[in-house]
Amino acid sequence: MGKYQLHALCDECGETHFIDITIQLDEGPSKKEKLVDTFAGKEIPQEIIALIIRSKLSCPHSGVTASLTGYEQVFLIPERRKKNSKNNINSS
Ligand SMILES: [Zn+2]
Repeated sequence: MGKYQLHALCDECGETHFIDITIQLDEGPSKKEKLVDTFAGKEIPQEIIALIIRSKLSCPHSGVTASLTGYEQVFLIPERRKKNSKNNINSS
């Protein structure tokens, strides 16, 4: 089980910004991934969609705040674990 921050693609600057939503997933990607890819072949939970469409995207570069119109440009980013982060070296 992991925690994921939701980020959305910004029309203003082309980067992705955190939209103030953190979700828990039993099975999720180990790196940044599109929400629609994570749920490919499955239904995206309604509560996640509801959170996204109620949230706003604030661009720190342009100062523009926009409503999100959908979840197609939303990405999941795994939240870094505080424990063992320095010891997580793969020596294979
Ligand atoms: Zn931006």
